[in-house]
Amino acid sequence: MPFVLLAGPCSVESIEQMEAVAEVLLKCNLKYIRAGVFKPRTSPYDFQGRGRAGLEILRTIKQKYDLKVISEVMDTRDVEVCCEYIDIIQIGSRNMQNSVLLKEVGMCNRPVLLKRGMMATMDEFIFAAEYIVSQGNEKLILCERGIRTFENSTRFTLDISSVAIIKEKTSFPVIVDLSHSLGRKDIAIRIANAVMALGVDGIMIEVHPEPLQALSDAQQQMSFEEFNDFFKAIQKNRLLEELRNNNKNFGDVFAK
Ligand code: PEP
Ligand code: MN
Repeated sequence: MPFVLLAGPCSVESIEQMEAVAEVLLKCNLKYIRAGVFKPRTSPYDFQGRGRAGLEILRTIKQKYDLKVISEVMDTRDVEVCCEYIDIIQIGSRNMQNSVLLKEVGMCNRPVLLKRGMMATMDEFIFAAEYIVSQGNEKLILCERGIRTFENSTRFTLDISSVAIIKEKTSFPVIVDLSHSLGRKDIAIRIANAVMALGVDGIMIEVHPEPLQALSDAQQQMSFEEFNDFFKAIQKNRLLEELRNNNKNFGDVFAK
């Protein structure tokens, strides 16, 4: 299984938006699309996601384009229904220590993409992973998405050493979310090259047909043009071929 690029908009907004993104991903021969329907927003007055109606859109996209969908679940009451619609269940940064939710997804038969809490230490992150595994679900992907520091030139501070530490301490695939960690796209190619040198199993990135009109995370989502440039740049990375040939980790998640 090759190195994976998990791309898609921050949120499912409409079927037209999702179709436009899916077509761009298919042209790049990508197999996954990410998009949230339950959105963990800082303000209760901001767009909260399309909810269950958004799940129907995800199903349509999955069937029409044969893409695997990744989407966040925030509430234990939604886990069962989400498993019917979503291929990889995401647990977001804000819920990394929600042990009830972790146990619930630990009981479902779907790969789980667990994001590092923005204030979580490595030990806390690994214990969170163990909550899921303890319920029998070993189909886990860990995601570094930046932590809170005093620095404000990026949205969060991407902790690249965590990738090496997770690789040292666990056998789970590790991906890096460039969009939420950086909160900006102008330095994404450079940072992508850096994390690929670390041997990450994948990268997550947000892409939207009209980023500035997006209902969430407008500043960090790439336009199609920016995404295509990003894709070309990471394809040129000489390490990628090696990762393609050697990296079986991500595939094992589905094989288990
Ligand atoms: C997301 O991926 O949509 C998201 C909200 O990310 P995080 O939980 O890392 O903030
Ligand atoms: Mn987002």
